[in-house]
Amino acid sequence: MRRYLIAGNWKMNKLTSEAVALVNELKRSLPAKKNVDVLVCPTYTSLYPVKSVLEGSNILLGAQDVFWKESGAYTSQISPSMLKDVGVTYVIIGHSETRGRFGVPEPDFDETILKHFGESDETVNRKAKAALSAGLIPIICVGETLSERKEGISDGLIAEQVKKALDGISGEDVAKLVFAYEPVWAIGTGETCESDEADRVCHLIRTTIEGLFGSAVCEQVRIQYGGSMKPSNAKDLLAKTNIDGGLIGGASLKAGDFSAIVDAVE
Ligand code: PEP
Repeated sequence: MRRYLIAGNWKMNKLTSEAVALVNELKRSLPAKKNVDVLVCPTYTSLYPVKSVLEGSNILLGAQDVFWKESGAYTSQISPSMLKDVGVTYVIIGHSETRGRFGVPEPDFDETILKHFGESDETVNRKAKAALSAGLIPIICVGETLSERKEGISDGLIAEQVKKALDGISGEDVAKLVFAYEPVWAIGTGETCESDEADRVCHLIRTTIEGLFGSAVCEQVRIQYGGSMKPSNAKDLLAKTNIDGGLIGGASLKAGDFSAIVDAVE
């Protein structure tokens, strides 16, 4: 039986005082649910203060990215052990806002966002391995853009993203992982993937993992949906067999909305 994981990706939002206020509010408003893990992923500057507020609660702390080296001349980067050191247990890897598909025209998407950080399937794989070695749980994001969906190449592309992310990782480690199916066209747009379709793609991710590592491993991997999840659509999405939780951006910035999404888990 997989536990649900409801995770808030706060992106580049909230000053430290606001982040602390939000977790204090969350501590008061989150419903008690036995089968749900709740995670918040603030900016790096708020990790330590937020961790202090989370002491004694069941809310987990996550980060929004990680580098694959442990230390050295890597200006601007953060290592897995630095995250561990402040109490982080999960890390988002390969979010579409960090991935760059150089050479692929993206007419439907703001290039300044998609191509900012040049994340590739290879860097996602390196980061996932480094995070696992440090004892962090990666949340690996995969998903297609609108043009890829229109072209009818989404399934192949997502299976490829999954395979490349898992290259060289043992079945034992894969079982600990979380995947997030995040259709790029649904992120921050208010447009949600229809729940049956989200369920189908999450199933595709699981069967791709099964093909590589077998059913015992794939049954343990948690697969979230992410893309404009909110209180009004959460129940429908989270009721689906293949959806084990949500990665939530906008709606995680309001304690009431995030709590309502946690409450939507049956
Ligand atoms: C996200 O950033 O992972 C996300 C799903 O954002 P939103 O919920 O705002 O679409």
